[in-house]
Amino acid sequence: MIRFDDVTKTYMRGQRPAVENLDIEFTRGEFVFLVGASGSGKSTLMRMVLKEVAPSRGTVYVAGKDLSRIPSWKVPALRRDIGMVFQDFRLLPSKTAYQNIEFALAVIGTPRKVVRRLVPEMLEMVGLEDKGKRLPHELSGGEQQRVAIARAYVNRPSILMADEPTGNLDPATAGGILDLLAEINERGTTVVMATHDRSAVDRMQRRVVEMVGGLVVRDEARGSYATPAPVSVISGNLPDDSAHRDEHPLEDQQEDSGPESTTAERSPAEDETHGATSAEEGSGTVASAGDVLEEDLIDEREALLVRDEDLDVEDAFAEEPFVSDPFADDAQEEER
Ligand code: ADP
Ligand code: MG
Repeated sequence: MIRFDDVTKTYMRGQRPAVENLDIEFTRGEFVFLVGASGSGKSTLMRMVLKEVAPSRGTVYVAGKDLSRIPSWKVPALRRDIGMVFQDFRLLPSKTAYQNIEFALAVIGTPRKVVRRLVPEMLEMVGLEDKGKRLPHELSGGEQQRVAIARAYVNRPSILMADEPTGNLDPATAGGILDLLAEINERGTTVVMATHDRSAVDRMQRRVVEMVGGLVVRDEARGSYATPAPVSVISGNLPDDSAHRDEHPLEDQQEDSGPESTTAERSPAEDETHGATSAEEGSGTVASAGDVLEEDLIDEREALLVRDEDLDVEDAFAEEPFVSDPFADDAQEEER
C-alpha cells in the first residue's frame, strides 16, 4: 500500500535529514503507530505519502505507484484516496459539522443525492447525528475531531493518516477517537497514526514504528509505546554513541520536548554541525491565530483529500480548483 525505498528527506542544505534512509512498507489493511519524540520525522514521513514533500533521495510508492512519476495534475486524485486527520482538527470554522463533511464531497462534484445520504451516515458513524448543525466552536475538541474524521473518511479512502489526532484531547475522549480509527481500519482502510499517546499504543497492541532523529529504530508487529529491549537501527545509520540510548527513550516526552529531543541522540560534533535543526523543532503542531488564512487554505486542500467510489474520479478532477498543487513546492513548506 505504502512503501519507502531508501528514502531520505533533507529540507535545507547543510541540515541533517528529517528522514534518513527510510526502508519500510505499510501493507493494505494495517494499523500502524508511528511513535517518536517531536522532530523525529513522523510528519515528514506522512507528508511524503501525500506528495506534499518530495524525498531528496529514494522512492515513495503508494498503491504501487512511484509518486515522483505522478504528474502534478494527478496529485489531487492521489490525495482524494488518502484521508488526513490532524491534531488541531482543521475544520472550516464558519461551516457546520454537516457542511464540513458536505464540503469534502461537494468539491469533487458528488451528486446531491449521494451527499444527502453520505453526510448523515457519516455523522451517525462518528456519533454526532444530533450535532450536524453545530459550528466547530460549538463542539468539544473530541467532537470536532470526530467531524474531521468523518470528513476524512466520507469517501472511503484506502489510507487514513492521523497526525497526533489525540494530542489535544483528554484521555477518555482520546480513547473514543482511537476506537473510531480502529473501526475505520476494520472496515478495510489502512491507518497510519503518529502519536505520543502511550495508552493508545499500549491498548491497541498493533504495529509500532519508532523513529529517532529521522531513523527507524523499532518496528514491532504488536508493540507497546516503549520497549524495554535495547534498540537497534532498522533503517538508516545512527551515530555510534546513540546505540546505547536510554532504555525508555520515550518517557517524559509525551509533550513536545524542545530542542534537545533529537540532539540528545547525537555526538557533540554533530550538534555543532547540525545545530540549526533544533530551532525548527516544535513547529507544526498547533496553529497560531496568525495562521488563519493559511489554515483555511489547508482546510480547503484537506477537503480535497477525498474520493467517492460512485464518481468517475477522472471527471471529478477536471473541476479541481487546485490543479497546480500549491503544496508541492518545498519553498512554501517553510511557512507551515
Ligand atoms: P515530527 O512530526 O516527528 O515532530 P517532523 O517531520 O515535523 O517531525 O520534523 C522532522 C525534522 O524536520 C525536524 O528537525 C524539523 O524541524 C524538520 N522540518 C520539518 N518540516 C520542515 C520544513 N518545512 N522546513 C525545514 N525543516 C523542517
Ligand atoms: Mg509532527
